[in-house]
Amino acid sequence: MHLTDSHCHFDFAAFDDNRPAHWRRAQAVGVRRLVIPGVEEARWPVLPRLCASLPGVYYALGLHPWWLADASADWHKKLAQALDRADERCVALGEMGLDAHLDLAPGEQEDALNAQLRLARDRSLPVILHSHKTHDQLLKWLRRTPPVGGVLHGFSGSLQQAEAFWKLGIHLGVGGTITYPRAHKTRQAIAAMPVEALVLETDAPDMPLCGFQGQPNHPAQLPRVLSALAELRRQEETTLAAQLEHNVSRLYGWV
Ligand code: ZN
Repeated sequence: MHLTDSHCHFDFAAFDDNRPAHWRRAQAVGVRRLVIPGVEEARWPVLPRLCASLPGVYYALGLHPWWLADASADWHKKLAQALDRADERCVALGEMGLDAHLDLAPGEQEDALNAQLRLARDRSLPVILHSHKTHDQLLKWLRRTPPVGGVLHGFSGSLQQAEAFWKLGIHLGVGGTITYPRAHKTRQAIAAMPVEALVLETDAPDMPLCGFQGQPNHPAQLPRVLSALAELRRQEETTLAAQLEHNVSRLYGWV
């Protein structure tokens, strides 16, 4: 069985001790591909080098709202230049989005999101989206500048919201959230969505699975997310895994 971790911060310090060994540990349980989203300007030059030494590891370039305050005044130009230099391992633009918990000047997050949505459209790249209690605002921006494709990572929300994103061609990243019994609304939404809309992720080292709270999350946990999803949807794991591989291949252009 082959799996793809569609969203893993494998460039973070949690994996610095021995990244090749961490990758082998994930490969040993069936994870054959992994995508590292770009979160901050300082990491854009690092990602191509990091991925070049790890077969099956891909990246995206983008500016996450959490790192917006650290970005230089001309980050937009630098992101475009980084995309010019990017190799074929660069599969998307992101992680970009909105976060209700951030205390930034009004419009700052929206401007950064909009600039990246336009850049993604110009380059015909799918987008990796972050949304924390901002689904409706994000949908508004997506309708204004519809991407060629994309994924709302770490989806948590209602069936109605999930359907609204999928209507715009945005996949839903299914991660550790569905392993928590108390996540009723999200579990129901993910159970009811067409399987074509779903891709797997860990968001490691963040978003630990239920039963693993307090520990850094790891891409080797991906089969547990698959099992939880199979149980939730009453589908057989191997069949589901094959379908999810098809979805993520279409999303990131591996077909
Ligand atoms: Zn992330």
